[in-house]
Order: sequence, then structure tokens, then C-alpha cells
Amino acid sequence: MTELYKSKPVVEKQLLYLKDKCLELKKKGVEPSMKVILVGNNPASLIYTRNKKKFCEKFEALCEIIHLDEGITEKEFLEQVKEISNDQSVHGCFIQLPLPSQLKHIDVGNLIPPEKDVDGFHKDNLNMLLHGDEENALLPCTPKGIITMLEHYGESLEGKNVVVIGRSMIVGKPMTLMMINKNATATICHSRTKDLKAHTMGADIIVSAVGKAKFLNKEFLNQDGNQVLIDVGMNHDSDGKLCGDIDREDVLEHCKAITPVPGGVGPMTILSLAQNLLQAAEKSLYK
Ligand code: NAP
Repeated sequence: MTELYKSKPVVEKQLLYLKDKCLELKKKGVEPSMKVILVGNNPASLIYTRNKKKFCEKFEALCEIIHLDEGITEKEFLEQVKEISNDQSVHGCFIQLPLPSQLKHIDVGNLIPPEKDVDGFHKDNLNMLLHGDEENALLPCTPKGIITMLEHYGESLEGKNVVVIGRSMIVGKPMTLMMINKNATATICHSRTKDLKAHTMGADIIVSAVGKAKFLNKEFLNQDGNQVLIDVGMNHDSDGKLCGDIDREDVLEHCKAITPVPGGVGPMTILSLAQNLLQAAEKSLYK
């Protein structure tokens, strides 16, 4: 029977560590604090930022959403970011994407200083990841969450063949590096990959980060039913219902395990953000 690798038990367990860690930091005089920069009223962004704030409240860290006007000028926006970046009481900060058109050209990944970059997008953090120095880096949240999930469910990565579909800077590329750092043999595939099925059929673990509803079906899988499928996609099906990249009904009974959408990778991303916040807050002790 195919197992569902749900995020709920992982998050519940990790939340206990987060609560302890947060309390420990407070006793040492550090009150973990995150600022979220939100520009405009994109409905999805309003929900995402609210969920992140709610999650911080669960382990009693501070989280403030700095809600800026949709029409803010570039100068005003950069001033706000600078002010937060320089605020010693703030340990973590991120800019919720997408930004309105007048700000779209800004390289937001490198705006937040690396030691507060809880999204893990700054080039210094990515450079550490590239060099295998994961302990000192704030890692990109979605791939970090996927590793946490695989470890929770007892999936060892050493020597495994991992195929990552998608080469974005926020999911595919860092995911592949993290897999390699865990001694997996990782292959990255994308829209120009020849014969994607030949790659996926040879994989022990498939991570799909394509962004196309029900893209991956049982035709991409081997006959052994022993593959683990990680579904990063957040798409909508023809009825407007949230769904992943993987056609769950079609692959069920043809794989060892699959992450559901919703209730899989999404909450793991928020968990990683919280872990990054506490890592950043702890590091501030040794500055
Ligand atoms: P992205 O930047 O659009 O990248 C999509 C990748 O898929 C690209 O590398 C693209 O290849 C590749 N691709 C497209 N069509 C393909 C095909 N037919 N065969 C093979 N590869 C193909 O997307 P992203 O930001 O990584 O996000 C991917 C999905 O994950 C989206 O649904 C997004 O909403 C979701 N997501 C979820 C979370 C979460 O927390 N659950 C976090 C982040 C993203 P090319 O590079 O050649 O164009």
C-alpha cells in the first residue's frame, strides 16, 4: 500500500523543538523576531504571510507583517528594507513575492543581509550550500523542508538516485545540491530534458517542482512500485481545486510513498522558515 508522507506529524514533532529553542533563547536575552515585508494585496500573499505569522505565534516568536502600499515607490521600498535590515532587534526578514510591477526588477534575493535571510535566497547562503557548508547557511525553505520530511519518514538518501524535475533557484537547484550533500546521486531535469521518463524510471526518489497540474502520472514510474514521490507543485485543476504536479489517483498503488497536496510540502516550507528564524536568532548571540 502506498504511504502518504503527510507534513502534520513532522510539523507537530518539530514544533516541540521550536518551542524549547525559543524559550531557551529568551532566557539568554534574545527574543526571536521576524519581519515580513508584504507589498499590496495579492490574495495568495495575504494568506501565505498570515499563515507564517500564525506559525511563529505557535512557538511564541515575534512576527510582524509590514504591509506596504501597492503603489509604493522603489525609493520608499528600499528605505523600508534598509531600516529593517539594520534593526538589531530583528533576526529574520523576508520579502513576500510577487512584488508589484514597479519593483519587479529588484534583486530581492540579495536585499536582506545573509544573516537575516530566512528565505535562504542570498548568494552568500547559496554559496555555503554549494560548498557543502550547510550548518552555517540559512537554507532555502522548500528543499530544506523536503529533507526534513524524508528524514522523518526514515528515507535514507545516501547512494539513492534522486531525480529533481525543475531547475528554479528556490526549489530545483538548491534541492539538487542538498541531495548531493546528503550523498545521493542527483539528476536535475527541466523542459529541455530529452526523455524525462528514462530519468524518472531510474529514480528511487522523484521531486517534482514543475508547476503543472497532474503532470506526472504512472507512465513516469517503474514497475516495482518502490519509488518515493515528492510533490512540490501548487496548482489548480480544471475545477479550481488545489492540486500538485502529480496525478495522485493515477500513481497510487504504483509507488512506495507520495506527499499529498495540500498537507505535504507546503507546511514543511513554513516549518523551515521558522527553523531558519531560530537559527538566525541563535547566531546573533555570538556576533
Ligand atoms: P518555476 O520557476 O516555474 O520552474 C518550473 C520548472 O519546471 C522549470 O525549471 C521548467 O523548466 C520545468 N518544467 C516546465 N515544464 C516542464 C516539462 N514539461 N518537463 C520538465 N520540466 C519542466 O517554478 P518553481 O518556482 O520552482 O515552482 C514549481 C512549483 O512548485 C509551482 O507549482 C509552485 O507553486 C510550487 N512551489 C511550491 C512551494 C511549496 O511550499 N509547496 C514552494 C515553491 C514552489 P525550464 O527551466 O526549462 O523552463
